[in-house]
Amino acid sequence: MSTSVTVPAVSLNNGVAMPQLGFGVWQITPDDRASAAVLTAFDAGYRAIDTARIYTNEGGVGAALERSELSRDDVFLTTKLWNNEQGYDSVLRAFDNSLAKLGTDYLDLYLVHWPVPFHNRYVETWRAFEKLYADGLIRAIGVSNFEPNHLRTLLDSANVVPAVNQIEFHPYLQQHELFELHKELGIATESWSPLGQGTVLGDPVIGAIAERLQKTPAQVILRWQIQLGNIVVPKSATESRIRENISIFEFELSADDMTALGGIHRGERVGQHPNDFIDDF
Ligand code: NAD
Repeated sequence: MSTSVTVPAVSLNNGVAMPQLGFGVWQITPDDRASAAVLTAFDAGYRAIDTARIYTNEGGVGAALERSELSRDDVFLTTKLWNNEQGYDSVLRAFDNSLAKLGTDYLDLYLVHWPVPFHNRYVETWRAFEKLYADGLIRAIGVSNFEPNHLRTLLDSANVVPAVNQIEFHPYLQQHELFELHKELGIATESWSPLGQGTVLGDPVIGAIAERLQKTPAQVILRWQIQLGNIVVPKSATESRIRENISIFEFELSADDMTALGGIHRGERVGQHPNDFIDDF
């Protein structure tokens, strides 16, 4: 069953249009499983894929692109540099490896996966990102898991302002400081674990709104993020949920619903704090 859904686009700070909802593929392995999930997502109408070197499924994403009837330019492809690839020359090598696995000659978005401040290499890493961007090999460059101080340090010497900061963001972790700072700096907020890896789905405030609107809790949460202006990349390997998660563009939350959802923040993470994330270097 092929569906036609129009996902709105966000205009990044360099004018590149990025679909506001994409398909996250973390933990969808091995490659043949990832490839099948991505093809299902394409069929459901997704046109953006969020992978990373560390997910070990870039090959599966590449295989789906190859098998799909979509052309490369129809798809917005994001991958991320892993922590142990930070540095100047190592970025250039890592980038080539990711392109080869993905079976493409350019990326739409390349992200520095974590700042790893303990190792203090993200400024040098960013110089290599700027070179790849200047060479026309990447349409937009960005970061992930950068805290306000990491962004400020980067901007002290950067020529290119990151287009995106992909951060943990869901109803229990609303990231108020970064959300405001991104607006001030012209950086798009992209939410990872937008459903809090499922932990927020049983929340009574979300449940009451979902019931009234005859939507699922996942749809309410994703819709809330869309109305906040965030880019979201929910993950599921289950076809019905893949379709459910993109079926959020034919209803709207009221201002009261938005306020109620804004009120359930708890400061609770499902992932690690960026300052503590130093493994695999
Ligand atoms: P998520 O919030 O998208 O939750 C995914 C889980 O929620 C699924 O495994 C499933 O159990 C459940 N789920 C999904 N849809 C559902 C539905 N409709 N109904 C009920 N349950 C549902 O969590 P995630 O996978 O951690 O994050 C999404 C994507 O974000 C990843 O695949 C990856 O691309 C990205 N990500 C990035 C980072 C980073 O450091 N940059 C970290 C984690 C995730």
